[in-house]
Amino acid sequence: MDGCVFCKITNKEIPADIVFENDNFVVFKDINPKSRIHFLIVSKKHIHSVAHIEDEDAGLAGQMILTARDTAKKLGLSGYKLLFNVGRGAGQVVDHIHLHLLAD
Ligand code: 5GP
Ligand code: ZN
Repeated sequence: MDGCVFCKITNKEIPADIVFENDNFVVFKDINPKSRIHFLIVSKKHIHSVAHIEDEDAGLAGQMILTARDTAKKLGLSGYKLLFNVGRGAGQVVDHIHLHLLAD
């Protein structure tokens, strides 16, 4: 989607510190980390937020969690938090679905 920063990152139009990529997702370091470890699992498909996931994208939503799991395993994390901010009221600032992976 035009003007979307995460579309630009997944399309490699702007750089990011990418640590993992598969057919449907790109995982990169958050530019302003809130924890020692802070990655974003970002769908290559532009979906505004969790509130905008269509039933037909249920598989993609599940794969997002599995991609977070694979990233955490690759990083050797023994414990981590996964977080979706949904909507401005919850602090969502980038309107392209992403899952935060956080660890101390
Ligand atoms: P939200 O609050 O929307 O759930 O989280 C968006 C996250 O994206 C924030 O933690 C913010 O630091 C991160 N972010 C915003 N713009 C960029 C960017 O251009 N590059 C990277 N790597 N992270 C970004
Ligand atoms: Zn986008």
